[in-house]
Order: sequence, then structure tokens, then C-alpha cells
Amino acid sequence: MNIKALNEAFKPMLAEERILEFYRMFDSEKVLLTSSFGTNSVYLLHLISKVNRRQKVHFINTNFLFEETIKYKNDIARDFTLEVIEALPDPTSHAITREEKMYETNPDLCCGVNKVATLNAVLDDYNVWMAGVMNTQTNTRKDFDIFQIVHNKLKFMPLADYSELEVQFYIKSLYLPPHPLKSQGYGSVGCTHCTSCGYDREGRWSGKSKVECGLHTIGGKQQTVNEKLQVSELAEA
Ligand code: SF4
Repeated sequence: MNIKALNEAFKPMLAEERILEFYRMFDSEKVLLTSSFGTNSVYLLHLISKVNRRQKVHFINTNFLFEETIKYKNDIARDFTLEVIEALPDPTSHAITREEKMYETNPDLCCGVNKVATLNAVLDDYNVWMAGVMNTQTNTRKDFDIFQIVHNKLKFMPLADYSELEVQFYIKSLYLPPHPLKSQGYGSVGCTHCTSCGYDREGRWSGKSKVECGLHTIGGKQQTVNEKLQVSELAEA
């Protein structure tokens, strides 16, 4: 099956059905699931805990995160019985970003060191990358589809066509634990230096033109869809 056919097959399904179907095709050992444990993350983590608890969750910890996020991650891991693996940046490079206050002087490089390079260091070990991003979150994400090719890896985004409103509706109606900063006015939560209160993502890098950390837009327009590429080729890569 190619990417186009895969997207067409998955499009009519709800997220849970998509995830169930996905694990009929892919072994969780070969799947890298990343979560920021942000304000929308708990919905996908809930679905994963229902469908496949063998799926490990990677958490990119920039060492600049809120204590509330760390505690939230620990609570969810315990309550949902999920194995969460912390992926940390290279200590030497991270120290430079901290000493140079790069989050102020060069936030793209700071994200590059602490987030993107950290992801890249683990991504090579997997065939498929799963993430809970949605195509309504930013203008740069508007073309995201359920399956896309990223750096010759298959990326699975089961919530790609969901809105934040829908995800928040599910979080509330399923009584899932909200991120503790949500009730304090944080629509989205990232690093302490670059997050302030605000609706949706307006509090991220507030006052700067930056809207993405680069994880989901690596290399600018990373989401090159090669519809002819067979999924089996990627799964075996
Ligand atoms: S979000 Fe801010 S502090 Fe975090 S890695 Fe990016 S620039 Fe650095």
C-alpha cells in the first residue's frame, strides 16, 4: 500500500480505530512515539494506553521544562501504565545554550540543539514516528496528513485532522487529567523561557516571529509526500 492509499483508508476512521489498524500493520518495537506531555497530549496517550501499552513513549526533555510538566508526565505514566523514556539533549551543547541564554539570542538554534538534535539521535533506531500533532495548530502544520514521509521515515499522526477543540472536548468528556497549567491560562506549554499564558499557541515564543520549535518542520518544508513510495519499503528501512 502506498501513502496516498494509506491516507484514504485511514481518513474515515476515528483516532482509536486508526491506532488499532496501525498496530495491525506495524510492530510497536519499531515505532517511536513522542509526546510533549503538553495540554493536548493526554488524549493520544489515553488511546495508546487502551490499544497498546507495549508502546513506549519518548519524552524530549530540554531541561528547560516546567516542574508541572515533569510531574504531569510522571503521573500519567503511572496512572496509564505507560513506559516513558526521557530523551535528553547532549549535555555539552545544552550547557552552551543555557550559558549563552540562547533561548533569548537565538531560539531557533536553542530548539535545534535541545529538541531537534535530541529527536534525531533516537529517530534513527525506528521505522515509524508517531506524534499527536494536528493540522489546525499552526499555519505551518496545515498540510499535515495522517501519514507522511519525513526524512525517509513514515510519520503517523492519528489526530492530524482533529481540531484542538475536539481534542479538548474528548479530554473533558473522558475526565482525563488536564495539564496543571491549563487552568492557569496556558493554552500550550513548552519550555519555561518561551511559554506564557495565552489562547492555544499564542503564548509560545510570544513577541517573536517564531511559531515552531522545528520538531515537526525539520528542514523547513520537511513534509514531502512521496505518494509512490510503498509503505512496506519504509517499514523495512
Ligand atoms: S522552546 Fe525556548 S528554551 Fe526550549 S529549546 Fe526552544 S528556544 Fe530553547
